[in-house]
Amino acid sequence: MKIGFIGLGNMGGGMAANLVKAGHDVRAFDLAEAALAHAEEAGCTRVKSAREAAADVDAVVTMLPAGAHVRQVYADCVIGAAPSSAILIDCSTIDVSSAKAVGASAADQGYAMVDAPVSGGIAAANGGTLTFMVGGSADAFARAEPILAAMGKAVIHAGASGAGQAAKIANNMLLGATMVATCEAFLLAKKLGLDLQTFYDISSKASGQSWSMTSYCPVPGVGPDTPADRDYQGGFATALMLKDLKLAMAAAHDSNASVPMGAAAEALYQAFANGGNGSLDFSAIIRMLEGEGARA
Ligand code: NAD
Repeated sequence: MKIGFIGLGNMGGGMAANLVKAGHDVRAFDLAEAALAHAEEAGCTRVKSAREAAADVDAVVTMLPAGAHVRQVYADCVIGAAPSSAILIDCSTIDVSSAKAVGASAADQGYAMVDAPVSGGIAAANGGTLTFMVGGSADAFARAEPILAAMGKAVIHAGASGAGQAAKIANNMLLGATMVATCEAFLLAKKLGLDLQTFYDISSKASGQSWSMTSYCPVPGVGPDTPADRDYQGGFATALMLKDLKLAMAAAHDSNASVPMGAAAEALYQAFANGGNGSLDFSAIIRMLEGEGARA
């Protein structure tokens, strides 16, 4: 299959390489020369513009930073430039309203399009083990599914256009809030004189258990190996968690949903990022809560 791939950064680079490995003919475009050179090394064909990447292909995949980039690239370079038979797949994490607006303009021009944001970071993008949450019609999902399957371990139909982004940001708002609450619980347990491994052994089998505790424990040396054991390097950057929490807040505002815990998590991650910690793993917020934000 001929696939145009636009946006070959930290995530898109590995995803495009996995499409090549699956036997697809990938025409790659990025504004950054280094990203293009890397894609070429992975077997993609480098093209000179986003319009050229979209021309004469069976599918277009985009992996761009934010909603503004997606709106601009689809309006100026994909819709009208890609054949109307092409399936359009946006894997970026963006606001729900931009996803719906771009999906509607694609549909107006006769395209099938899905929003298909991912769960999983750069290692999952490189390893082809991403989870895709997909919004779009049943027909569009059926056409996108085999392409996404070449880049991931799970491809789930979330509902109509925009539903993929909705699932992603609702999930990540829950993740942000449970991480903060998990950090708080460990810090309270410590203040009360509990051994933290003992608290983990109890809470991980009791009603306070969550993914943030048992798969991503923010305390070094407790639970499974996590970024906490590597001085909070790697993992899921605080800046990206903050981005997703901001998208959740915008969606909550637009849909009139009450999200006080999500709002508290957003404020805390904003404060942590403002302290110069944007590149640290998001579980490092335990340091700020412990009063060591300046050192973090
Ligand atoms: P990135 O900044 O590394 O890559 C984005 C790429 O898009 C860059 O190479 C940039 O040059 C390119 N780009 C921007 N505007 C362009 C345009 N008009 N035409 C062509 N290329 C353009 O970002 P990333 O980490 O790869 O993230 C991409 C998306 O995936 C984001 O929406 C992010 O929120 C989401 N995401 C990232 C992670 C992660 O761990 N990095 C995890 C899940 C989801």
